[in-house]
Amino acid sequence: TKEKSLNFIEQIIEEDLKNGLSQDKLRFRFPPEPNGYLHIGHASSICLNFGLGLDYQAPVNLRFDDTNPAKEEQEYVDAIKKDVQWLGYQWAEECYASDYFQQLYDWTVALIKKGKAYVDSQTSEEMAKQKGTPTQAGVDSPYRNRSVEENLDLFERMKNGEFEEGTHILRAKIDMASTNMLMRDPIMYRILHKHHHRTGEKWCIYPMYDWAHGESDYLEQISHSFCTLEFLPHRELYDWFLDQIIDTDKVRPKQREFARRNLSHTVVSKRKLLQLVQEGHVTGWDDPRMSTISGMRRRGYTPTAIRNFADTIGIAKRDNLIDVSLLEFCVREDLNKTAPRVMAVLDPVKLILTNYPEGKEEWLDAENNQEEEIMTYRKVPFSKELYIEREDFLEEANSKFFRLTLGKEVRLKNAYIIKGESVVKDADGNITEIHATYDEDSRSGSGSEASQRKVKGTIHWVSVAHAVPAEIRIYDRLFSHENPDGNKEINFKEFLNPNSLEIITGYLEPSLKTAVDGDRFQFQRLGYFCVDRDTTADKLVFNKTVGLRDTWAK
Ligand code: ATP
Ligand code: MG
Ligand code: MG
Repeated sequence: TKEKSLNFIEQIIEEDLKNGLSQDKLRFRFPPEPNGYLHIGHASSICLNFGLGLDYQAPVNLRFDDTNPAKEEQEYVDAIKKDVQWLGYQWAEECYASDYFQQLYDWTVALIKKGKAYVDSQTSEEMAKQKGTPTQAGVDSPYRNRSVEENLDLFERMKNGEFEEGTHILRAKIDMASTNMLMRDPIMYRILHKHHHRTGEKWCIYPMYDWAHGESDYLEQISHSFCTLEFLPHRELYDWFLDQIIDTDKVRPKQREFARRNLSHTVVSKRKLLQLVQEGHVTGWDDPRMSTISGMRRRGYTPTAIRNFADTIGIAKRDNLIDVSLLEFCVREDLNKTAPRVMAVLDPVKLILTNYPEGKEEWLDAENNQEEEIMTYRKVPFSKELYIEREDFLEEANSKFFRLTLGKEVRLKNAYIIKGESVVKDADGNITEIHATYDEDSRSGSGSEASQRKVKGTIHWVSVAHAVPAEIRIYDRLFSHENPDGNKEINFKEFLNPNSLEIITGYLEPSLKTAVDGDRFQFQRLGYFCVDRDTTADKLVFNKTVGLRDTWAK
């Protein structure tokens, strides 16, 4: 049992333990359908289930809910496994609902024999008409009272591939007057002449979610089956199906529901994310603007940050929209601890130190990360010609401007104190060079009196001769609306932000030449950046992960 205050899911488990369920019977699962890549909503569910597994030292299965061959692919299975592992979790067993197709079929035959399931040969339109409304009972299908023999025969022939799709389905015989519409003789099997990514052509009838999920839970002896709130009305059916197959000495799985997690300025629905990919609004499932785990990974988000985010928002009983800035806060907080600091200039203007010797170069010590317990250093080259950020200089500035201006002093990070002297402009009046003088005795870390002189500002720089150009991809929100999915009248794609990607050339200190795919850095005073997988031997590509502080204007 745990020290911290329990959420309602943990309370349910504690209650069951108190009522006699032994702790070694606890078992959880994460059950994705392999019909797309996982997104930040799934991350919540992964952290919940695998987190419980760690807290209670209970196994957690990764179960692929692969009952709809039309939409499922091996590519998605592989991507899902990679994402769960990347988040830092290890499943006990890798399971597939499709591994249970034979068992489900056998149970179905037994149900038919007990008169609890029948083959319906109407069209789906006819069946829809008979469903009734929540306040009005449905109408029995004319096939509801088919004989057991006829049902067995038809069901077998459905399995053998004798019928076209849509000609027959198998329904559970429950209650056409139930106030729960899902109990009005729900569909258990439909005919689909489709290739399945695991079972190939073996089956042409496929079980529905409700008839597969609880039974899979039971076969794996899952004690608690947590799903999102839209499945609340399915719970009665989940229990009804379990009642038909349960053995008393086995653990009876329990379905409980928690709220879906939605993130602002994005969509969390595989179907919609797939549309963005297929229609070319993004470059792929792992586009760094996507809310997918693979997109966030490529963007430079860390597994720790995503787990902390899931932990911070916790689980809820009601659906809600979480502001994406909270996720960014978690990313920033983790990267602040772990990302090495480097210097890069993204909007360069040339700074020339007129009194610095021509041709001289110095390699200065620079701290890698002041958050480190034991400080480590690297060398950065310094010379007469430097790049600084255009916005770090103003010709005429008021007393609140602590960066470079004419006649005043500023420190170049890890280097010298300099003083602005003059500017060179082109015919249009744009500054092309800034001329400054440096104080030779003021080198950072030299211990001299001059090095300890206090100046108001510190700016970053890179040496022109040593700078490494790189492609820098800067991202904005993929959607300009906080809740693009929130209005049923307006298609979410109407809210796509046309300026969500900006590509520029930046100039980096040469230590970054050896950076490889996935490496993360803080570009000092600019934000966090990571090496993109598009990087080649002769071209570095960086993604901006997140800024140094929350500058998003609401
Ligand atoms: P989508 O609509 O994106 O396909 P889904 O719920 O159909 O989502 P599944 O692959 O069935 O996707 O989901 C696997 C598990 O993740 C389920 O238990 C599901 O409830 C959970 N899950 C999916 N989306 C969210 C979300 N936004 N917040 C929390 N849990 C989620
Ligand atoms: Mg689902
Ligand atoms: Mg789905």
